[in-house]
Amino acid sequence: MTTMYRKACPNCGRVVTSASRAEIMVEEVCQDCGASLPVVPEEYDPELEAMQQPVEPQFPAASVVPEIQTETAEPAELELVLPDTGIVVGLPRPGGMVGRVPVNCNSIKTFATISRIQFAYVYLDGGGIKITDKSQFGTVVNGALLMPGESCAATTPSTVEMGGAYAFMLREREQE
Ligand SMILES: [Zn+2]
Repeated sequence: MTTMYRKACPNCGRVVTSASRAEIMVEEVCQDCGASLPVVPEEYDPELEAMQQPVEPQFPAASVVPEIQTETAEPAELELVLPDTGIVVGLPRPGGMVGRVPVNCNSIKTFATISRIQFAYVYLDGGGIKITDKSQFGTVVNGALLMPGESCAATTPSTVEMGGAYAFMLREREQE
């Protein structure tokens, strides 16, 4: 059993070895790159390590570069859902209309008390949407009645009531 000492440069990987602990303790700086070496040397047995040489070539861990996530998440699109019915009204970006007429509102086109154009919406940069009532009798957002031409901001979760009877929930669109 032989005891040897070594310090590996954390920057370039250069290894200094010595049979003397006192001698390797004074090795403080890498001679190749100038980086600071570990203060405490590693103790090892060269005979033992020679026997344990791995068959597979060893690649330095430094060559493994973590994958960098460059994809930026799309901001979530919102939708209105009528609880317990499966009725969903999509709210495509960047804005549009909700009522019996717009194509994104086919699921509510038979709801006679909802106006043909109930309200307009536009996505806000900070999240959520701005709702502007366009209906005859108003839209209730989080309990506050918006009369025609009036606006307010709504984020998730919010309730949006229209047609007097339909309390929709505003939520993030479910991903398929
Ligand atoms: Zn170095």
